[in-house]
Amino acid sequence: IALPADIFGAERKNSKGLNMNILSEAQPFFAAIDKFNDTQWQAGPLVDGKTLTGDINTVVSPYDTKQTVGQVVFADQQAIEQALASASHAFPSWARTPVETRASALQKLADLLEENREELIALCTREAGKSIQDGIDEVREAVDFCRYYAVQAKKLMGQPELLPGPTGELNELFLQGRGVFVCISPWNFPLAIFLGQVSAALAAGNTVVAKPAEQTSLIGYRAVQLAHQAGIPVEVLQYLPGTGATVGSAITADERIGGVCFTGSTGTAKLINRTLANRDGAIIPLIAETGGQNAMVVDSTSQPEQVVNDVVSSSFTSAGQRCSALRVLFLQEDIADRVIEVMQGAMEQLAIGHPGKVQTDVGPVIDATAKANLNAHIDHIKQVGKLIKQIQLPAGTEDGHFVAPIAVEIDSIKVLEKEHFGPILHVIRYKAADLSKVIDEINSTGFGLTLGIHSRNEGHALNLADKVNVGNVYINRNQIGAVVGVQPFGGQGLSGTGPKAGGPHYLTRFVTEKTRTNNI
Ligand code: NAP
Repeated sequence: IALPADIFGAERKNSKGLNMNILSEAQPFFAAIDKFNDTQWQAGPLVDGKTLTGDINTVVSPYDTKQTVGQVVFADQQAIEQALASASHAFPSWARTPVETRASALQKLADLLEENREELIALCTREAGKSIQDGIDEVREAVDFCRYYAVQAKKLMGQPELLPGPTGELNELFLQGRGVFVCISPWNFPLAIFLGQVSAALAAGNTVVAKPAEQTSLIGYRAVQLAHQAGIPVEVLQYLPGTGATVGSAITADERIGGVCFTGSTGTAKLINRTLANRDGAIIPLIAETGGQNAMVVDSTSQPEQVVNDVVSSSFTSAGQRCSALRVLFLQEDIADRVIEVMQGAMEQLAIGHPGKVQTDVGPVIDATAKANLNAHIDHIKQVGKLIKQIQLPAGTEDGHFVAPIAVEIDSIKVLEKEHFGPILHVIRYKAADLSKVIDEINSTGFGLTLGIHSRNEGHALNLADKVNVGNVYINRNQIGAVVGVQPFGGQGLSGTGPKAGGPHYLTRFVTEKTRTNNI
């Protein structure tokens, strides 16, 4: 395939990774992270640039609940009112701020994220239980989102689009911010998704009221501090930590808002949709990026070792807490025994433990509720299906929210009533002649986020890619870790309203369009 010469981005490059095998790079990096081992972070509502006080909630680490990470104050009604009023008031001026100014503040924010990389990784590990590698990727993705949307905003909004003027008039199409955008994010990408939503909304000329997941309020607070430091005016970006039931429902019900960008579960997205429908005021858009029942289909032409590598990383990286993670593996029966045997060996090698240690593959899940729900599903699915492998939790994990990675063979995807957001892999065997039934079964879930395919038969792989209704297809590789500007990410059906984060059309979902016909 011939790619255009500038496809690799003269104007923007994705941020660099870190090769932890190079000792001279790794040692100072780990030493810099270790400096934050005992830090206690403080956070609260950041309204008009002031941190508000109130009742204090203590934040503990998911890997050891005896360790505190800091304290957070949740927003009350007064904070919510002030944030919404100020963000509404600031909108006209921010919308008229030249797009170059908005973009350069986001570029500056990307620089500041890189300068504070080690602190942010330490926060991701200690507050969200992320592994060091996940923390590195998280900061990189946040940086990439800021830079990508800065460039896209200039491209899309720098000049109006000129349209034909058949009778001699001047016709121009303008893209403009919609007003106050509410951004509501999940805990599993507490920096990247949080800032991805916020930077897109700001780049497009909206003011923002941002609510993080309650479990990751400290990270969100640092990100907003850095955004203000980068030059985003304090009235333009307001921060309201708190629960979904209190802060989330109040801000989505407010008639002053101009749009909602939400990432989280399908159930919450539907709840927000109902809130928006029932409120007074304008009809406004909901951008929803939600859950999945992601499958991988492996045929008999595949190479078992490569398959297992990709299955294990897709299912168990981040303790399975990625929306893109593999949940249901379909194995053609001719290759199934071999893949399962290699997979049992590979799962045996998974290192479970403290996410801050470089050798850890699988850290904790986010909290006690998640752990209890996942273990309840494990108990149930072990009765319904046939156990392939369950890893024993090592000593030292008793005080954390650890869930033992498991693979279970089941008969049909229909036994899974919902998404199980953790390190649980379900395996189903299929006959070559039944491939169309596999496609129907995957589509019957109604979810449509990611699909993995392993095959050396290109026609076969492309046929599957075409017929399964999903937003992102990955052939002969793992199915996690979409890269900004490279694999725009987002699903369809129960998995979301369709916009692709990190893609060229994303910002158009955050704007209104105005046509000006001028006969002067
Ligand atoms: P969640 O429970 O739906 O929560 C997401 C956010 O919504 C949180 O900030 C939550 O606040 C808030 N919220 C809850 N109830 C609300 C309400 N009534 N009104 C307004 N906001 C409300 O999801 P989660 O457990 O944090 O995240 C995991 C889910 O996210 C999984 O389903 C995963 O697949 C999905 N996800 C999807 C993508 C994607 O791009 N498609 C990416 C990442 C994650 P509190 O938590 O503070 O209550």
